[in-house]
Amino acid sequence: MTDTGETSQDGIEPRKYTLDSRFKFACHKGMACYTHCCSDLNIILTPYDILCMKNRLKLTCDQFLAIYTKPEMLSRTKLPVITLKMLDDDKKSCPFITPEGCTIYEDRPLTCRYYPLGMASFREQDIQPTGEDFYLMVRESHCLGFEADKEWTVSQWRKDQGVEPYDEINKDWMEFMLRKKSFGFQADLSEESRGMFFMVSSNVDKLRRFIFESSFLDKYDVEKDRLDQIKTDEAALLKFGFEWLQSALFGADKVKLKDQVLKAYKEKAENAKKANRLRT
Ligand code: SF4
Ligand code: SF4
Repeated sequence: MTDTGETSQDGIEPRKYTLDSRFKFACHKGMACYTHCCSDLNIILTPYDILCMKNRLKLTCDQFLAIYTKPEMLSRTKLPVITLKMLDDDKKSCPFITPEGCTIYEDRPLTCRYYPLGMASFREQDIQPTGEDFYLMVRESHCLGFEADKEWTVSQWRKDQGVEPYDEINKDWMEFMLRKKSFGFQADLSEESRGMFFMVSSNVDKLRRFIFESSFLDKYDVEKDRLDQIKTDEAALLKFGFEWLQSALFGADKVKLKDQVLKAYKEKAENAKKANRLRT
């Protein structure tokens, strides 16, 4: 397996795959190449990957991030992401690979699920200004999976590998990654905004504390049902976190400030403007 990150061009077919595109592939235990693909990778972990993996390993977010990951900054979008840390052995093996296969298979990251496909939206050089979704085919010489007769459409592969819930829960994170115009996300984010993005993307424990143990709920109007849901459902908490980010950073009408807070902010901004006018 190669990465779908921004560093490797190796083995990527110069062709766009869409949901109806067809390819032949099979992968199973007993193949001569079994587990050869799980080392020396640069795998970006999506927010839902982190959530599923830390729960699988029964770790807190802080513990999971410290043991298994390293932070990186995407060079073009200047967005911080989390990547899976390979072991310090000869092969730079994935920490979850054994001769019997992946020890967290049911909770493996999205990149591993998609392979041999890669999502274009994970590679900054392939991001389309239109936001068009397409896939890339990664053909590596060591991978014998392409010799199989089993045919798939991209759509069937996605279903078989269980990527759909991941794509649904990661949708808003992906929007940030794509820098879609719909968010007015043309300018660089401030250090503080990047920090907020990083917290929501990588650490639901911190996000939960931020919502329930700070002045957040004094400022934002959140319906009781939604609050009850995000208290117990981490995937829902993640989705809420991204809706809040879209609202706080780009003015989306999703998580609203309380009327009196909005009024106080407006008055403060107006007073600052007046003070500026007086100074000039
Ligand atoms: S077929 Fe490809 S993906 Fe499957 S184990 Fe072999 S190298 Fe890995
Ligand atoms: S998480 Fe599992 S499938 Fe993915 S690279 Fe590691 S061992 Fe392979």
